[in-house]
Amino acid sequence: MPEQKEEGITMDFFESVYHGEPPWDIGRPQKEYIQLEQAGEIVGSVLDVGCGTGENALYLAAQGHEVWGIDFAPTAIQKAQEKAAQRHLAATFLVLNVLELHTLGRTFDTVIDSGLFHSLNDEERPRFVDNLAAVIRRGGTYFMLCFSELTPVPDFSALKDFMPDFSTFKPEDYERLRVTQAEIKESFQDGWRINYIRQATLEARLGPNEVYGWLSSISKE
Ligand code: SAH
Repeated sequence: MPEQKEEGITMDFFESVYHGEPPWDIGRPQKEYIQLEQAGEIVGSVLDVGCGTGENALYLAAQGHEVWGIDFAPTAIQKAQEKAAQRHLAATFLVLNVLELHTLGRTFDTVIDSGLFHSLNDEERPRFVDNLAAVIRRGGTYFMLCFSELTPVPDFSALKDFMPDFSTFKPEDYERLRVTQAEIKESFQDGWRINYIRQATLEARLGPNEVYGWLSSISKE
């Protein structure tokens, strides 16, 4: 069944912004993921949920990990596949909704998330966590990079300059991106162990707006 929500940040929104260059699509991996890899925290096979155009996934593939990336925006996946071919990197990119992860029919040692969880609405977050449990092995770790409540809600008229197709994105959507530690703990209380939630920075082209985040390491029990 197609997953098309009527409110919140929709697939159509993401698909349309990927015809241009959305502010989070910075053309290089996020620093936080480079640091995790260098620290040896990313182990084995990796699934990147909401991989966008694949920079984090491709970085980890270049470091020797077996990597799959999924995203529901076909244009993002197409761009990721093109980059993989250009860079001669082996990575598998598929169009898939994160609420259907269980259909992958396999598990990974590590799952990474850069900006996916925070874009899901309250009804979707628990369904995503259930799907996550289906694709991560016992003892495997989910790393999540999301906005925190410390990120101020920007002046929307200014943000339009950085986000060309902005018509369907509303202040309440931005508000939802600002995840609290309590929300993270609540989402991962059953069957998960939270190793840490650290202050982190999300790199984005959002002009003068500061983007504070949380980097969470959460293992499946
Ligand atoms: N991880 C990428 C993209 C972050 S933006 C990066 O760091 O650049 C969030 C991504 O999640 C978008 O690419 C969006 O298309 C994807 N996404 C949001 N909801 C999704 C869902 N339900 N299923 C699959 N992908 C989703």
